[in-house]
Amino acid sequence: MATGSINVSVENIFPLIKKFLYSDHEIFLRELISNATDATLKLKHLTNIGEAKVAYGDPKIEVKVDKENKLLHIIDQGIGMTAEEVEKYINQVAFSGAEEFLEKYKDSAKDSGIIGHFGLGFYSAFMVANKVEIITKSYKDEPAAHWTCDGSPTYTIEPHDKTERGTEIILHIGEDDVEFLEENRISELLIKYNKFMPVPIKFGTKTETLPKPEEAKEEDPAPTQEVDNIINNPNPAWTKQPADLKDEDYKGFYRELYPMQFEEPLFNIHLNVDYPFNLTGILYFPKLGQDMNFQKDRIQLYQNQVFVTDNVEGIVPEFLTMLRGVIDSPDIPLNVSRSYLQADGAVKKISSYITRKVADKLNSLFKNDREDFEKKWNDIKVVIEYGMLSEDKFFEKADKFALYPTVDDTYFTFEELQEKIKENQTDKDNKLVILYASDKDEQHAYISAAKDKGYEVLLLDSPIVSHLIQKLETSKENISFVRVDGDHIDNLIKKDEETISKLSDEEKDALKVDLEKVIPAEKYTVQLEAMDSNASPFMITQPEFMRRMKEMQQTGGGGMNMFGNMPEM
Ligand code: ADP
Ligand code: MG
Repeated sequence: MATGSINVSVENIFPLIKKFLYSDHEIFLRELISNATDATLKLKHLTNIGEAKVAYGDPKIEVKVDKENKLLHIIDQGIGMTAEEVEKYINQVAFSGAEEFLEKYKDSAKDSGIIGHFGLGFYSAFMVANKVEIITKSYKDEPAAHWTCDGSPTYTIEPHDKTERGTEIILHIGEDDVEFLEENRISELLIKYNKFMPVPIKFGTKTETLPKPEEAKEEDPAPTQEVDNIINNPNPAWTKQPADLKDEDYKGFYRELYPMQFEEPLFNIHLNVDYPFNLTGILYFPKLGQDMNFQKDRIQLYQNQVFVTDNVEGIVPEFLTMLRGVIDSPDIPLNVSRSYLQADGAVKKISSYITRKVADKLNSLFKNDREDFEKKWNDIKVVIEYGMLSEDKFFEKADKFALYPTVDDTYFTFEELQEKIKENQTDKDNKLVILYASDKDEQHAYISAAKDKGYEVLLLDSPIVSHLIQKLETSKENISFVRVDGDHIDNLIKKDEETISKLSDEEKDALKVDLEKVIPAEKYTVQLEAMDSNASPFMITQPEFMRRMKEMQQTGGGGMNMFGNMPEM
């Protein structure tokens, strides 16, 4: 047997990195700012532990566009590199200085927020630049270095006269990527990826209006001054302790996240766990109403405050993708396919942790302020009902706080409902029969007839109600749901024989013919029966199962375009 090592030649690997490593050119900026952030956080850590004897000061990162010379500069005041370190960290592709740092400082640095990982981010610069320069001065007392590379595997390195500590990356933007010389484009990218990164990022300046001095006249313009335009909030709410935040802070952060969203969220859930995985975040319940097609993908996923994606499919259970907010976890493997993600053990744990937190929060809202919870019910029920259908663990928890409103706006939990109707609403098999309406106006006559008999009628009008009913019937013993216009209701509502008999056979037949014109007889059982309610002497009923079959067909496939296929039941 012979063994050998696979030979990787740099000439081959370089274009591969450029072409395939990242599908999206724009992420180069995220990578370079991540490196600048890491360099700053490393310095912070080393000054904290006394290893670097320099003043940390108030460092920031600056991005500058030089359209004329087709240059983009990313400048930091971080740890810098000596010439030797440039050789080690930059010239060795796939050697991560970030990982080395975390390894070296282990426990003390584990919460430092260092981003880098694979030692490849820097090379994404070559996706948009045909030449890259690094001018860097280490915090150590050594001369600055100037590295230049045009994207071929050869580079030059020479001393430089830079005196301030830190690193400047200069990108010579290529012809195909001149969009990255537009201020608007850069600004858009900074807001997208770097809005909550932990080191202040400056992009140009802005004019700030100062208060008018006392002696100023009415017509005098207010004085102004030019200040740094800092594009990020280095301390976003989710990185703080829940105890340090007030309701106003959560609402303020929501506006920061969704500046175009004018409606306030109903409530929030602060996620904060560091074992067995690391995850922080804030989720918001927006007002949802009946809308199943509510825009998904509004939850943003971050890793160490760097935006990664707003597609959280596979990480958050599907029914929660209707929520909004932020999740930040360094433990989500993102360089893998989504289908792998769903099977990944760590990700499964994260998903079930989130589900549990959401259920617990809902339960505490229900317990602490039931009145308020009832008021919000119509805006949150779609999420809860969908969750009950798709996750059994959630069903168990939600069963205690899920509400079933009556047509008269009384809200029962399932248990309360059972208690309420057990005397009066059983059929011949002693099954509890739960009556419900799906449309108050349309089923008005049936509702009042049932109410006259002293029955409770629920109003179940969410788009997935037929699935929910099915789920409840299979998971609870001895109950069945019947819509108020179902013919099964006969078993409960005693027919008023006398009123029926007042109609002649001809009258009944005539009406039946009229009704069948509107409703195809083969699909519906048209029954004429006289109820004792004066307003509606005639009722059309149809077998519960037939109507349901039809509804399930409608909502089972294309009807539920938001969720694709419904779980099998
Ligand atoms: P990673 O960030 O995953 O470690 P990169 O390819 O992004 O890998 O960067 C490689 C290494 O180069 C970093 O780990 C770091 O040691 C060094 N480096 C890159 N940019 C800077 C910078 N702005 N200041 C100091 N060191 C840097
Ligand atoms: Mg990096």
